[in-house]
This record gives sequence, C-alpha cells and structure tokens, in this order.
Amino acid sequence: MRSLSGKVAGIAPSATIAISNLAKKMQREGKDVISLSIGEPDFDTPKHIRDACIDAIGRGETHYAQSDGIPELRSAIATKISRDNRFECTPEEVIVTCGAKDAIHEAMQAVLNPGDEVIIPDPSWVSYEPCAQIAGGKAVHHLLAPDSFQVDDTILERVSPNTRMIVLNSPSNPSGAVLSDASLKLVADMADDFDLFVLSDEIYEKLIYGKNHRSFASLEGMKDRTITINGFSKAYAMTGWRLGYAVAPPEIIRYMSKVQQHTVSQATTFVMWGGVAALNGDQNPVERMRQEFDRRRLFVLKELTSMGLACAPAEGAFYAFVRVEGDDMDVSRTWLEKAHVAVTPGEAFMAPGWVRISYAASIERLKEAMDRIRPFC
Ligand code: PMP
Ligand code: GLU
Repeated sequence: MRSLSGKVAGIAPSATIAISNLAKKMQREGKDVISLSIGEPDFDTPKHIRDACIDAIGRGETHYAQSDGIPELRSAIATKISRDNRFECTPEEVIVTCGAKDAIHEAMQAVLNPGDEVIIPDPSWVSYEPCAQIAGGKAVHHLLAPDSFQVDDTILERVSPNTRMIVLNSPSNPSGAVLSDASLKLVADMADDFDLFVLSDEIYEKLIYGKNHRSFASLEGMKDRTITINGFSKAYAMTGWRLGYAVAPPEIIRYMSKVQQHTVSQATTFVMWGGVAALNGDQNPVERMRQEFDRRRLFVLKELTSMGLACAPAEGAFYAFVRVEGDDMDVSRTWLEKAHVAVTPGEAFMAPGWVRISYAASIERLKEAMDRIRPFC
C-alpha cells in the first residue's frame, strides 16, 4: 500500500455516521432496526420552505451565486441575529456554508496554525476534534463534571501557551445540557485573559425546554472573539439541504471565504432561497416541532428512569444522554444486535460509560424501542 496522508490517518471516522450506516444496512437486510443513533429530526421540512426552493429552481436560480451567500440570505441572517440573539451584526459578518459542519471546518481553517490547541469541553460532538486536526490544530479535551455538565475553573488547567480557541456547544450534543450564565462568564473571562477565539456552536438554540438560550457573542466584549455557528438542519428539519452559516468579525469571514472559494465554492443557490424563506417566514412550525420533541423527551426520560437508568439534564437538543453499567460500546452493540435498537456509545463523544439516545423519532417507535431495551437494562 502506498503511504497516504498521515494527517488523515490520525482522524477517526464519524461515529454517528458509522452507526447510522450500520443501522441502515441492517434495515436493508430486512431487520426492523429502530435507529436512535443519528441526530436528525424525523419531520419533513416545512412546506413554505420547500415551495420557496422549488420556486427558485423554476425561476432559474440554478447558477453560481455569490460565494459567501446570496445577499438576501446574509441579510436575513443578520436580521435574525439582531432579533433572536441580542447582538448586532452586518451581512459582511456572515458567511453562508454547506451546513454548520462546513462552517466549523472553515472557521478552524481560518483561525488555526499548525500546533495550535483547541480546548474542547466533553462530552463533545464528534466532528470538533477532526475539524481541528484537519486544520493542523490539536484538540485538548476537558471532561465536564457529569452531574451538571457546566464549565468550572478546572478548565483553566487546560490552557497552555499554544491555546488558541475554545469550543462551546449549548444546548449540547450529546448531553442536552444548556450552559449557565456562570459557565459562559467563566469562559468569557478566560478568553479575555488568554486572548482566545471562541467557537460557539448554537445549532440547537431553538430546541430548548424551560430554559433560555444565551448567545456567547452577546456577552460584553465577546463579539470580536466569537465565531457563532448555526444552521438550518435542526430548527427547520433541513438536514439534507446542507445549509448553515457562521457569524464572525469581518477578517475571519474573509479568511473563511477564501477557504470556501477554493473548496465548495458556495452553498447551493436554490437551497439558499429555502433558507431565506425559513428565516423570514412563519416560525410556528419550529415551535410545533419543539413541542413535539419536548413530549418525546419527557416520555423517554420517564421510561429510562423507570429502568433505573440515570440521565444527564436533557434541557435542550433531542438527545437523552444515559449512564450505563459496563462498557458503553458493549451495551450499544447488545442493544443493536439483540434488541435492534441503534444508539451511539458515549465513547464517540469522549464520555465512556454513557450512551446517547436520539429521541427524534415518533412516540410509537420510541415506546417500541424502550420496550425492546428494557430486558437488557
Ligand atoms: N454541530 C452540532 C452540535 C451538531 O449536532 C451537528 C449535527 N449535524 C452539526 C453541528 C452539523 O450540522 P449540519 O447538518 O448543519 O452540518
Ligand atoms: N449531528 C448529528 C449527530 O450527532 C448528525 C450526524 C453528524 O453530522 O455527526 O448525530
């Protein structure tokens, strides 16, 4: 075998995608697998958004567009930020990307130099570390206290002269925790003291239950060091559209833009028109989906608790993060092979001893899944 890239050799494949692929393969083989592994809303994209995209195709919006995003969408995002996130931004501080994942990748490329360290509070979503590695950076993991999943001052022990960035993700995938004002303030002080960039992934901001979302960039003095990541996948059930964005100081956007121009060029032109309709149109579908997720959340938490399983504070997103006895890889394998229920082992999120159950499935399927795993708990 000829030698290939050492950098890529050191990167793990995406565990969330690998397990979902395995579940799909078992389904194709005729097995009735309930897939609670991937984080994907099971709802259809709201009709007015689909219609706007179809109209755009009808109008011939099928050509290359502005690489950073069509002006209508960058303006809609800037307006949304002022409306929902308690800080101001101009369209020049926005870049539209092929999903939030692409925005994270471009942000890391724009900011990191080889050897720069990125502090990642765990449990953490699977793609932060690989994105940092692809950009030549190095992930420094920090396990949050599992009772609260909040940030405390032990995180300061992770800072070194090479630290360049810290990642925040609230509401969190996989824990569902929402960062408190005290946690955010602690990170803000740390960012100031050590001159760090903060990548604040807020993709689950609309899926929050009984708490309020606070954007990190809205904290005093933080806007200039924050790259806010967001997208349409979760709030608007638009996973397959591959549409996301970042909001950051103009010089960071300019660097991200160079990466974008030489890689994906732009987000798909007619898809961006769907994004305009999503942000400027009726927000009731978002609230209806949130309420349905809440109903499922309460159901799953009740079922898991009745099995004697402890769960992280599921305050946001659509995941129950569950403490299991024994090896989480073994537990996930048993549930998949014997109960035909696919979940993601905590190890994928740097949190062994836990499994993540996505409750983005119908109550009927969730009930069936809970009945199937009960004998193995
Ligand atoms: N951030 C988090 C925390 C996620 O869970 C996901 C899930 N896909 C993403 C980013 C990427 O979302 P997108 O589909 O917009 O790339
Ligand atoms: N974010 C989702 C998850 O955690 C989708 C898969 C992925 O992009 O990793 O399952």
